[in-house]
Amino acid sequence: MTERPLTGTMRPDRSPLSLTEYERSGGYRAVRKALRMEPRALQQMVKESNLRGRGGGGFNTGLKWSFVPLEDDAPRPRYVVANADEMEPGAFKDRLLLEGNPHQLIEGMMIAAHAVQAEHAYVFLRWEYKRAERHVKRAIAEAYDAGYLGRDRSGPGAGLEMHLHVSAGRYMCGEETGLLNSLEGKRATPRSKPPYPQVSGLWGRPTVVNNVETLANVPHIVDHGVEWYKGLSRSGDGGTKLYGASGRVKRPGLWELPMGTPLGELIEERAGGMRDGFSFRAVIPGGASTEFMTEEQFGVKMDFDSVTEAGSRLGTGTMTVIDDKTCPVGALLNLEQFFAQESCGWCTPCREGLPWVVKTLRAIENGQGEPEDMEVLEMHIDGLWLGRTFCALAPGAMEPLKSGLRLFRDDFERHIREGRCPYR
Ligand code: SF4
Repeated sequence: MTERPLTGTMRPDRSPLSLTEYERSGGYRAVRKALRMEPRALQQMVKESNLRGRGGGGFNTGLKWSFVPLEDDAPRPRYVVANADEMEPGAFKDRLLLEGNPHQLIEGMMIAAHAVQAEHAYVFLRWEYKRAERHVKRAIAEAYDAGYLGRDRSGPGAGLEMHLHVSAGRYMCGEETGLLNSLEGKRATPRSKPPYPQVSGLWGRPTVVNNVETLANVPHIVDHGVEWYKGLSRSGDGGTKLYGASGRVKRPGLWELPMGTPLGELIEERAGGMRDGFSFRAVIPGGASTEFMTEEQFGVKMDFDSVTEAGSRLGTGTMTVIDDKTCPVGALLNLEQFFAQESCGWCTPCREGLPWVVKTLRAIENGQGEPEDMEVLEMHIDGLWLGRTFCALAPGAMEPLKSGLRLFRDDFERHIREGRCPYR
């Protein structure tokens, strides 16, 4: 049993494992076992493993599944959707799984489908992931040919139909209800909750939406058991985690490591520390919508609860490191431009507020900022915070800005005082 269940069998060049190779490494063994289990027992097993949503939400996966009504008169059909719309800046972990071992995802979706008694499954894929698209498409075809997928229940499958849907390319589709609207052919705006998708999701039917990395964990839990899975972790959250690092580190990359690996170990050992001539300043730990962490927090275990206690969020676990020669005002401008562009425009504070934040940051970065601009930014952080907007995009956009204003205040004030960017 490998300590890297998600990536241990992958090829270094990310060419995909064929069905035969996947089966040879133990693939599709877990789904045979899962199909012999009662759906509720399967949900309970995944719940006890403490597999938490790897898309960034961190919700207990088995608990999420348990909200799907399974009574005889409960609505049908039911759906399982793999959220493969990986658009968080700096995130590339699901891409590795999609390209390198697509059958692992398919098996995870089959098990999830049995747990919620779903008849249809969709892979909702980011449209730029062309290589992943080819690999997933081929793997689905192989799984149909082998009888794992399809309505024929005489084979090793459970009558599940699986479809690949390539997204039209919006960040909002990563939010599960925006994704469901998009899958229905509508504008990708979020839905109000409740009802949650587990009760009323795709076309108003019970639907479970899980991230790719989350689903890829499921076969290993079923195959090797809850205690083994929990034992992989260095924290209370089960399993391993795909951690990534980008920025001016010596070895940017992606690593499968025990959940709860400390921040300092990831940056100094795995990423090799900073490149010569650069010093560490801060890190955005889990995609663009998380608060900065600093060197004083290198001892923080990178799991959902520990990072929250430290004042940020684990998010996707794919980190962006800021060095001492990168202008933090420019970096924040870059992030906020992304969020302003990706705002779906549904609610006024986000639609109007984010472009104003961008305009203010751009003025400061270009040396045309006024002292009052700091107040303008703080006012927007307050006005776009949690509870003030329809979904979490705008509050997420404010997280790096809020911590950035606190950490890099001197840089902001120097831009305004000197009327120029001191990093240029
Ligand atoms: S917060 Fe932004 S992304 Fe979310 S609903 Fe409002 S406008 Fe759309």
